[in-house]
Amino acid sequence: MTASQIQSDTTLAARERWVARGVAAPAIVATHAEGAHVTGADGVRYLDFAGGIGCQNLGHNPQAVVEAIHAQVDQYLHQCFMVAAYEPYVEVCRRLGELSPCRGSDQKSILFNSGAEAVENAVKIARAATGRPAIVAFDRGFHGRTLMTMTLTSKVKPYKKGFGPFAPEVYRAPAPYPYRGISSDDSIQALEQLFLAHVDPATVAAVILEPVQGEGGFIPMPADFPAKLRELCDRHGILWIDDEVQSGAGRTGPVWAIEHYDAQPDLLVSGKSLGGGLPLAGVTGPASVMDACDPGQLGGTFGGNPVSCAAANVVLEQLPGMQAASEALGAKLRTTLEDMATRVDCIGEVRGLGPMLALEIVRDRETKTPAPELVAGAIAKARENGVLLLGCGLYGNVLRLLPPLTITDEELSQGLEVIEAALA
Ligand code: PLP
Repeated sequence: MTASQIQSDTTLAARERWVARGVAAPAIVATHAEGAHVTGADGVRYLDFAGGIGCQNLGHNPQAVVEAIHAQVDQYLHQCFMVAAYEPYVEVCRRLGELSPCRGSDQKSILFNSGAEAVENAVKIARAATGRPAIVAFDRGFHGRTLMTMTLTSKVKPYKKGFGPFAPEVYRAPAPYPYRGISSDDSIQALEQLFLAHVDPATVAAVILEPVQGEGGFIPMPADFPAKLRELCDRHGILWIDDEVQSGAGRTGPVWAIEHYDAQPDLLVSGKSLGGGLPLAGVTGPASVMDACDPGQLGGTFGGNPVSCAAANVVLEQLPGMQAASEALGAKLRTTLEDMATRVDCIGEVRGLGPMLALEIVRDRETKTPAPELVAGAIAKARENGVLLLGCGLYGNVLRLLPPLTITDEELSQGLEVIEAALA
C-alpha cells in the first residue's frame, strides 16, 4: 500500500468514526485542487465536472481570486457588517446592483453565508414589501435545506423525509418540463387553478423560480415561461424571486441565466460560484422592495465576510468578459453530447442552457422510464476512471455536467470520453 493510499484510508476511517452520517460523501479525500482538477490523497488527479456542486465556475483556485483573498487576509478577517462597515462588502453590492437583471434602476443588495440563508431572506423581504404571507414554489424546485427553504424544495428523499412539520403558507405548482409533457401553458393554468382552489393570490407575496432547475434535473424554463409568469405576477401584485444560486454567476453564459429570457424578476438570489470557492450569497432588487425592512431586521454575524467579498469582487469583475467564451464552450459541449446521444441509447435527452448541460438517462427512449441505477453506475465508473460527476433530478436519473467555464478543450474531450465509456 502506498503512503498516499494509507493517508486516504486513514482519513476515510476517521470520517466514518467522527463525522455524522447525514452528510453524504464519496470515498475521495481531496488534498489539492487547481483549475479543472482535484488531486486525491489516493494520488489520483481527478478531472472535476462537479465543481463542489457548481461553486467553481472559474475553476479551482483561480489565481486572481487567491491573490485577492491573500491581500484581504493580511488586512482583516472579520468585522461583522453590523459592527463596522467595510469596503469589500459595499463593493460586492455595487457590482451586484450594476449587473442585476431585476426591474428598477436603484438596485440594492444584502449578503449572506449560503444560498439557503439568502432564499430565506428573500422570502422575508418579499413578505415585508407586500404585507402578504404566502409563497408559491414549483415542482422539482430546490432552494436549500433550512426549514423554509426545505419547505420550498420539492423532493422528499433525501431532503424532506422525517423533517416535518414544514413552514406554513407555502404552495406549489407544476413547473414546465417539456421532455415529460408539461408545457408553459400547463404550468400557468395550474397556477391559475391554485389561485382558485388553494390560495387567494391577494395573499401571495412571491413566487420563487430557478430559470434552470438545478437539483431538480437541469431543466431550463421554456423561452416563453418567464414572461408569462411575469404577467401573471403583475396581475396579482405578486413579486417574482429569481433563484440563481446554481444557474447564476456565469454558469449559463451571461452572468445570470434569466438574461436568456425576455422578462425581469423583482428579486435575484445569488450564491455558490459568486464567492469563487468561499461561502457568499446575496439578495438583490430595487430599493422599493429591498428597503421594506427596517435597519436591524436583516443581517447575520458572518454574512458578507470580508474575505468572501474580496473573492467575489474578482469573480464579478471577470464574469461579464467571460460570456463569449462560455457560450462557445456551451455550444461545443452540446454538440458533443448530442453526438454522444446518437451512440448511447440510454440518453433520453440532452438539455440545458449554455454550458449548464445535463443528460437525462432512461431505460427506454419510448417509455422514458427513468434509470437512476445507470446514473449511479456511471458516476461510480467515471470516478474509477478519474472524473468527478454528479447526478440530479427528482428520479435521480440525470447526469449533470458542471465543469469550470475555464476548462481546456483537451480536458473537456478527456472528460467526455470517460463519461461516454461510463454510460456505455
Ligand atoms: N437554491 C438553489 C437553486 C440551489 O441549487 C441551492 C443549492 O444547491 C440552494 C438554493 C441552497 O444553497 P446552499 O447550499 O448554499 O444553502
